[in-house]
Amino acid sequence: MSDIIETWFDQPLLFTIAERHVRGRLVRLGPTLQTIMGAHNYPPVAEKLLAEALVLTVLLGSTLKDENGQMTLQAQTGGGPIELLVCDYRGGELRGYLKFDAERLAEVGSDPTLFALFGEGFLAITFDQATTAERYQGIVPLEGASIGEAAEHYFEQSEQIPSLIKLAARHDPEAGCLAGGLLLQHLPEGEVGRDRLHVRHDNTEWEHAKTIAATLKDEELTDPATSLETLAWRLFHEDEVRVEPGIGVSRGCRCSPGYFAGVLAQFPEAERADMADENGRIVVDCAFCSRFFPIPLDEISAHNRAE
Ligand SMILES: [Zn+2]
Repeated sequence: MSDIIETWFDQPLLFTIAERHVRGRLVRLGPTLQTIMGAHNYPPVAEKLLAEALVLTVLLGSTLKDENGQMTLQAQTGGGPIELLVCDYRGGELRGYLKFDAERLAEVGSDPTLFALFGEGFLAITFDQATTAERYQGIVPLEGASIGEAAEHYFEQSEQIPSLIKLAARHDPEAGCLAGGLLLQHLPEGEVGRDRLHVRHDNTEWEHAKTIAATLKDEELTDPATSLETLAWRLFHEDEVRVEPGIGVSRGCRCSPGYFAGVLAQFPEAERADMADENGRIVVDCAFCSRFFPIPLDEISAHNRAE
């Protein structure tokens, strides 16, 4: 018997259940998540929210057909304690951060609704295809119990793809932040080579797959001792499930001195002089990874001359 390859952390497992016209992704983030969180000092509620958003970003990013395509998730507040949440994914590189009002966030309790976190906020989901330079963006209200539920609405409204999304995150006393998720989608006909005549029947198939997926527990998604193959098997063992590994995920921040010099070059020279310290440098910090970049003023001017 050949060895079964198993997937544990920081790599999605892609699967299809051809006879039910269902495709899915399972992922569990561990070390990558801990690297991202390690650059910040988030309170538990904020950590959980960002962890789930990062899992969602990987799940959606792994549906990009274009390997160099980018998926961006951005939640904007409608007056809630979470002011901004941004995550993006490109070719396995993942990053994300959030901005919040600490005092107000401390008042929302340990299991807040999206409304308690964002007020009447909205979620923008953007897919950029690198090779064709095409961009798809959908914006949905941040309604429901979780950010996953809001993303389900995106698929229903913008893409007409029935979808189920489950996200879970917890803080393990030893390992740190662990999070996992499942994305299950009813494929549009064509992608699995069947015609529209079957659509009506497929709805019962989809309902069946959805009912099974709904039994998946949060603890299973974040259990470091259960491989993703085991999870897929537990859920869908009645069907033939084809699995393949997705692209491995790591923290990837695209900040660089050159990038910030370019951003600062947009400011008028007098304003730049005001922002500089006594050494003639503007110190910028990256919101994603919290690294500091001292950018000398003459480098910024050089950037403008190079344009
Ligand atoms: Zn950075």
